[in-house]
Amino acid sequence: MIEVNSEKSIEALQKIPDAELERLYDQYGNPRWPYLNLFTWKRLNFKCRQCSWSGDGGQVDIGEVDDEITELVCPDCGAYMSALSHLVEIPGFNKES
Ligand SMILES: [Zn+2]
Repeated sequence: MIEVNSEKSIEALQKIPDAELERLYDQYGNPRWPYLNLFTWKRLNFKCRQCSWSGDGGQVDIGEVDDEITELVCPDCGAYMSALSHLVEIPGFNKES
């Protein structure tokens, strides 16, 4: 896993008003793009829609990976929870700055 300094990104997200945050989660309570991104995913909370598991991104299992996304799946039952997009270009991380 690639470690990135996500302090700035987290700080920016904490300034988002609560009403905005509601739009950032899907109907199962899992974060989705753009809230869910390469900087934030390890610190966000996920909930399994099939079993009672919940936890942060550092605990989830990686499902299928293709050129565009990495699936994040439940470590207990393997159910799909969310998808992390690779398509975003972040200078100094996955893009030449
Ligand atoms: Zn599960």
